[in-house]
Amino acid sequence: MNNEKREEMFRRLKAANPEPKTELEYNNAFELLIAVILSAQATDVSVNKATQRLYPVANTPEAIYKLGVKGLTPYIRTIGLFNTKAKNVIEACRMLCELHDGQVPQDREKLEALPGVGRKTANVVLNTAFRQIAMAVDTHIFRVSNRTGLAPGKNVLQVEKQLLKFVPKDYLLDAHHWLILHGRYVCLARTPKCPECSISDLCDFKPKTAAKVKKPVGSSGPAKLAARTTKKRSTEGRKKSSAKKTASNTKKKKTKLLAKKATKKKAVAKAVFKKRS
Ligand code: SF4
Repeated sequence: MNNEKREEMFRRLKAANPEPKTELEYNNAFELLIAVILSAQATDVSVNKATQRLYPVANTPEAIYKLGVKGLTPYIRTIGLFNTKAKNVIEACRMLCELHDGQVPQDREKLEALPGVGRKTANVVLNTAFRQIAMAVDTHIFRVSNRTGLAPGKNVLQVEKQLLKFVPKDYLLDAHHWLILHGRYVCLARTPKCPECSISDLCDFKPKTAAKVKKPVGSSGPAKLAARTTKKRSTEGRKKSSAKKTASNTKKKKTKLLAKKATKKKAVAKAVFKKRS
Protein backbone atom coordinates (compact mmCIF):
# COMPACT_ATOMS: atom_id res chain seq x y z
CA MET A 1 0.00 0.00 0.00
CA ASN A 2 1.43 3.37 -0.93
CA ASN A 3 1.12 6.64 0.97
CA GLU A 4 -1.66 7.93 -1.24
CA LYS A 5 -3.76 4.87 -0.45
CA ARG A 6 -2.95 5.14 3.27
CA GLU A 7 -4.18 8.72 3.26
CA GLU A 8 -7.36 7.75 1.43
CA MET A 9 -7.93 4.76 3.74
CA PHE A 10 -7.93 6.94 6.86
CA ARG A 11 -9.89 9.68 5.14
CA ARG A 12 -12.68 7.17 4.56
CA LEU A 13 -12.47 5.62 8.04
CA LYS A 14 -12.67 9.09 9.56
CA ALA A 15 -15.57 10.12 7.33
CA ALA A 16 -17.53 7.08 8.52
CA ASN A 17 -16.64 7.60 12.20
CA PRO A 18 -15.23 11.09 12.92
CA GLU A 19 -14.69 10.50 16.65
CA PRO A 20 -13.81 6.87 17.23
CA LYS A 21 -13.86 5.70 20.84
CA THR A 22 -12.87 2.66 22.81
CA GLU A 23 -15.76 0.35 23.65
CA LEU A 24 -14.54 0.03 27.24
CA GLU A 25 -16.60 2.18 29.62
CA TYR A 26 -14.66 4.55 31.91
CA ASN A 27 -14.84 8.02 33.45
CA ASN A 28 -11.20 8.73 34.19
CA ALA A 29 -7.66 7.45 33.59
CA PHE A 30 -7.77 5.13 36.61
CA GLU A 31 -11.03 3.46 35.56
CA LEU A 32 -9.63 3.01 32.06
CA LEU A 33 -6.39 1.51 33.39
CA ILE A 34 -8.26 -1.08 35.45
CA ALA A 35 -10.64 -1.86 32.58
CA VAL A 36 -7.72 -2.43 30.21
CA ILE A 37 -5.92 -4.69 32.72
CA LEU A 38 -9.14 -6.71 33.02
CA SER A 39 -9.65 -6.85 29.25
CA ALA A 40 -6.65 -9.07 28.50
CA GLN A 41 -8.06 -12.12 26.66
CA ALA A 42 -11.60 -11.00 27.48
CA THR A 43 -14.24 -9.07 25.58
CA ASP A 44 -14.98 -5.42 26.24
CA VAL A 45 -18.60 -6.40 26.89
CA SER A 46 -17.62 -8.77 29.72
CA VAL A 47 -15.31 -6.16 31.24
CA ASN A 48 -18.01 -3.48 31.08
CA LYS A 49 -20.45 -5.78 32.87
CA ALA A 50 -17.91 -6.27 35.69
CA THR A 51 -16.89 -2.62 36.02
CA GLN A 52 -20.54 -1.51 35.98
CA ARG A 53 -20.86 -3.44 39.26
CA LEU A 54 -17.42 -2.58 40.66
CA TYR A 55 -17.02 1.16 40.02
CA PRO A 56 -20.11 2.33 41.93
CA VAL A 57 -18.60 0.56 44.96
CA ALA A 58 -14.92 1.32 44.39
CA ASN A 59 -13.32 3.38 41.63
CA THR A 60 -10.14 4.77 43.18
CA PRO A 61 -6.83 3.01 43.89
CA GLU A 62 -7.44 3.38 47.65
CA ALA A 63 -10.96 1.95 47.53
CA ILE A 64 -10.08 -1.03 45.33
CA TYR A 65 -6.94 -1.75 47.39
CA LYS A 66 -9.13 -1.82 50.50
CA LEU A 67 -11.36 -4.48 48.90
CA GLY A 68 -8.37 -6.80 48.69
CA VAL A 69 -8.24 -9.83 46.39
CA LYS A 70 -11.11 -11.53 48.22
CA GLY A 71 -13.35 -8.48 48.05
CA LEU A 72 -12.54 -7.74 44.40
CA THR A 73 -12.94 -11.28 43.04
CA PRO A 74 -16.76 -11.48 43.15
CA TYR A 75 -17.00 -8.41 40.88
CA ILE A 76 -14.69 -9.82 38.21
CA ARG A 77 -15.40 -13.55 38.53
CA THR A 78 -17.11 -13.62 35.09
CA ILE A 79 -13.95 -12.47 33.32
CA GLY A 80 -11.31 -14.95 32.15
CA LEU A 81 -8.15 -15.29 34.31
CA PHE A 82 -9.92 -13.43 37.12
CA ASN A 83 -7.68 -14.84 39.87
CA THR A 84 -4.47 -13.49 38.35
CA LYS A 85 -6.19 -10.26 37.34
CA ALA A 86 -7.50 -9.70 40.87
CA LYS A 87 -3.98 -10.06 42.30
CA ASN A 88 -2.54 -7.72 39.64
CA VAL A 89 -5.21 -5.07 40.16
CA ILE A 90 -4.77 -5.03 43.95
CA GLU A 91 -0.98 -4.83 43.65
CA ALA A 92 -1.24 -2.10 40.97
CA CYS A 93 -3.55 -0.11 43.27
CA ARG A 94 -1.10 -0.48 46.14
CA MET A 95 1.73 0.85 43.94
CA LEU A 96 -0.40 3.73 42.66
CA CYS A 97 -1.15 4.73 46.26
CA GLU A 98 2.39 4.34 47.55
CA LEU A 99 4.44 5.53 44.57
CA HIS A 100 2.20 7.83 42.53
CA ASP A 101 0.02 9.57 45.05
CA GLY A 102 -3.04 7.70 43.81
CA GLN A 103 -2.60 9.00 40.25
CA VAL A 104 -2.10 7.08 37.00
CA PRO A 105 1.38 7.94 35.66
CA GLN A 106 1.52 9.47 32.18
CA ASP A 107 4.81 7.80 31.49
CA ARG A 108 5.32 4.49 29.68
CA GLU A 109 8.04 3.17 31.95
CA LYS A 110 6.10 3.84 35.14
CA LEU A 111 2.95 2.37 33.66
CA GLU A 112 4.69 -0.78 32.51
CA ALA A 113 6.14 -1.22 36.02
CA LEU A 114 2.60 -1.84 37.32
CA PRO A 115 1.52 -5.50 37.57
CA GLY A 116 -0.69 -6.61 34.68
CA VAL A 117 0.39 -3.67 32.53
CA GLY A 118 2.36 -4.54 29.41
CA ARG A 119 3.28 -2.46 26.40
CA LYS A 120 -0.16 -2.76 24.83
CA THR A 121 -2.03 -1.70 27.98
CA ALA A 122 0.35 1.21 28.50
CA ASN A 123 -0.22 2.30 24.88
CA VAL A 124 -4.01 2.21 25.29
CA VAL A 125 -3.85 4.33 28.46
CA LEU A 126 -1.34 6.81 27.02
CA ASN A 127 -3.33 7.18 23.82
CA THR A 128 -6.90 7.06 25.09
CA ALA A 129 -6.66 8.71 28.51
CA PHE A 130 -3.75 11.09 27.93
CA ARG A 131 -4.09 11.65 24.15
CA GLN A 132 -0.49 10.77 23.42
CA ILE A 133 0.51 9.27 20.11
CA ALA A 134 0.84 5.55 20.84
CA MET A 135 -0.21 2.50 18.90
CA ALA A 136 -1.60 -0.40 20.93
CA VAL A 137 -1.41 -3.36 18.57
CA ASP A 138 -3.91 -6.05 19.45
CA THR A 139 -5.00 -9.05 17.38
CA HIS A 140 -7.39 -6.92 15.25
CA ILE A 141 -4.86 -4.22 14.46
CA PHE A 142 -2.17 -6.80 13.73
CA ARG A 143 -4.46 -8.54 11.22
CA VAL A 144 -5.74 -5.39 9.50
CA SER A 145 -2.26 -3.88 9.24
CA ASN A 146 -0.90 -7.01 7.59
CA ARG A 147 -3.84 -7.84 5.33
CA THR A 148 -4.29 -4.38 3.95
CA GLY A 149 -0.57 -3.80 3.54
CA LEU A 150 -0.90 -0.67 5.69
CA ALA A 151 1.91 -1.65 8.07
CA PRO A 152 3.05 -5.25 7.59
CA GLY A 153 5.11 -6.90 10.31
CA LYS A 154 5.92 -10.33 11.72
CA ASN A 155 5.16 -9.42 15.32
CA VAL A 156 3.19 -6.79 17.23
CA LEU A 157 6.24 -4.62 17.92
CA GLN A 158 7.16 -4.53 14.23
CA VAL A 159 3.59 -3.62 13.30
CA GLU A 160 3.50 -0.93 16.00
CA LYS A 161 6.69 0.67 14.63
CA GLN A 162 5.43 0.42 11.04
CA LEU A 163 2.15 2.06 12.00
CA LEU A 164 3.91 4.94 13.74
CA LYS A 165 5.99 5.35 10.59
CA PHE A 166 3.31 4.96 7.91
CA VAL A 167 0.01 6.25 9.31
CA PRO A 168 -0.45 9.81 8.00
CA LYS A 169 0.25 12.36 10.78
CA ASP A 170 -3.25 13.81 10.85
CA TYR A 171 -4.69 10.42 11.70
CA LEU A 172 -2.06 9.10 14.14
CA LEU A 173 -3.95 9.97 17.31
CA ASP A 174 -7.11 8.04 16.46
CA ALA A 175 -5.69 5.41 14.09
CA HIS A 176 -5.70 2.83 16.89
CA HIS A 177 -9.48 3.05 17.33
CA TRP A 178 -10.30 3.10 13.62
CA LEU A 179 -8.18 0.02 13.02
CA ILE A 180 -9.54 -1.91 16.02
CA LEU A 181 -13.14 -1.21 15.03
CA HIS A 182 -12.45 -2.10 11.39
CA GLY A 183 -10.89 -5.41 12.45
CA ARG A 184 -13.64 -6.16 14.96
CA TYR A 185 -16.62 -5.49 12.70
CA VAL A 186 -15.49 -5.67 9.05
CA CYS A 187 -12.11 -7.28 8.50
CA LEU A 188 -13.01 -10.34 10.57
CA ALA A 189 -10.38 -13.01 11.21
CA ARG A 190 -12.05 -15.97 9.49
CA THR A 191 -14.26 -14.34 6.91
CA PRO A 192 -13.49 -10.69 6.25
CA LYS A 193 -16.49 -8.78 4.93
CA CYS A 194 -14.67 -7.60 1.79
CA PRO A 195 -17.79 -6.96 -0.32
CA GLU A 196 -19.07 -4.41 2.20
CA CYS A 197 -15.66 -3.00 3.17
CA SER A 198 -15.23 0.72 2.55
CA ILE A 199 -11.51 0.38 1.80
CA SER A 200 -11.70 -2.74 -0.34
CA ASP A 201 -10.22 -1.06 -3.42
CA LEU A 202 -7.23 0.18 -1.40
CA CYS A 203 -6.51 -3.08 0.41
CA ASP A 204 -3.69 -5.41 -0.72
CA PHE A 205 -5.43 -8.58 0.47
CA LYS A 206 -5.81 -10.71 -2.66
CA PRO A 207 -8.14 -13.58 -1.66
CA LYS A 208 -10.99 -11.20 -0.91
CA THR A 209 -14.26 -12.81 0.11
CA ALA A 210 -16.91 -12.87 -2.59
CA ALA A 211 -20.25 -11.13 -2.38
CA LYS A 212 -23.12 -13.43 -1.42
CA VAL A 213 -25.57 -13.94 -4.27
CA LYS A 214 -29.14 -13.92 -3.02
CA LYS A 215 -31.23 -16.67 -4.57
CA PRO A 216 -34.84 -15.88 -5.41
CA VAL A 217 -37.23 -17.65 -3.07
CA GLY A 218 -38.00 -21.19 -4.22
CA SER A 219 -35.19 -21.34 -6.78
CA SER A 220 -32.70 -24.17 -6.83
CA GLY A 221 -29.23 -24.64 -8.16
CA PRO A 222 -28.63 -27.21 -10.97
CA ALA A 223 -27.09 -29.72 -8.56
CA LYS A 224 -30.05 -29.48 -6.21
CA LEU A 225 -32.46 -29.81 -9.12
CA ALA A 226 -30.67 -32.91 -10.44
CA ALA A 227 -30.67 -34.45 -6.95
CA ARG A 228 -34.39 -33.73 -6.57
CA THR A 229 -35.21 -35.27 -10.01
CA THR A 230 -33.21 -38.40 -9.19
CA LYS A 231 -34.97 -38.68 -5.85
CA LYS A 232 -38.36 -38.24 -7.51
CA ARG A 233 -37.55 -40.88 -10.10
CA SER A 234 -36.34 -43.39 -7.57
CA THR A 235 -39.44 -42.80 -5.42
CA GLU A 236 -41.69 -43.37 -8.42
CA GLY A 237 -39.71 -46.51 -9.31
CA ARG A 238 -40.10 -47.85 -5.77
CA LYS A 239 -43.86 -47.20 -5.89
CA LYS A 240 -44.26 -49.05 -9.24
CA SER A 241 -42.30 -52.11 -8.15
CA SER A 242 -44.22 -52.30 -4.88
CA ALA A 243 -47.53 -52.15 -6.81
CA LYS A 244 -46.31 -54.99 -9.08
CA LYS A 245 -45.43 -57.14 -6.08
CA THR A 246 -48.86 -56.59 -4.54
CA ALA A 247 -50.59 -57.57 -7.81
CA SER A 248 -48.58 -60.79 -8.19
CA ASN A 249 -49.20 -61.74 -4.52
CA THR A 250 -52.97 -61.28 -5.03
CA LYS A 251 -52.84 -63.46 -8.13
CA LYS A 252 -51.00 -66.23 -6.26
CA LYS A 253 -53.53 -66.12 -3.42
CA LYS A 254 -56.42 -66.43 -5.90
CA THR A 255 -54.83 -69.43 -7.65
CA LYS A 256 -54.30 -71.18 -4.29
CA LEU A 257 -57.92 -70.54 -3.32
CA LEU A 258 -59.20 -71.96 -6.61
CA ALA A 259 -56.99 -75.04 -6.25
CA LYS A 260 -58.30 -75.59 -2.72
CA LYS A 261 -61.90 -75.33 -3.91
CA ALA A 262 -61.28 -77.79 -6.74
CA THR A 263 -59.71 -80.33 -4.30
CA LYS A 264 -62.69 -79.97 -1.98
CA LYS A 265 -65.15 -80.50 -4.85
CA LYS A 266 -63.30 -83.67 -5.94
CA ALA A 267 -63.39 -85.02 -2.38
CA VAL A 268 -67.18 -84.41 -2.15
CA ALA A 269 -67.79 -86.07 -5.55
CA LYS A 270 -65.73 -89.13 -4.46
CA ALA A 271 -67.73 -89.45 -1.25
CA VAL A 272 -71.07 -89.28 -3.13
CA PHE A 273 -69.89 -91.89 -5.64
CA LYS A 274 -68.79 -94.23 -2.81
CA LYS A 275 -72.16 -93.89 -1.06
CA ARG A 276 -74.12 -94.72 -4.24
CA SER A 277 -72.06 -97.71 -5.04
S1 SF4 B 1 -11.08 -5.67 1.70
FE1 SF4 B 1 -11.35 -7.45 3.00
S2 SF4 B 1 -9.29 -7.97 3.70
FE2 SF4 B 1 -9.21 -5.84 2.93
S3 SF4 B 1 -9.59 -4.59 4.73
FE3 SF4 B 1 -11.53 -4.89 3.75
S4 SF4 B 1 -12.41 -6.69 4.81
FE4 SF4 B 1 -10.20 -6.64 5.25
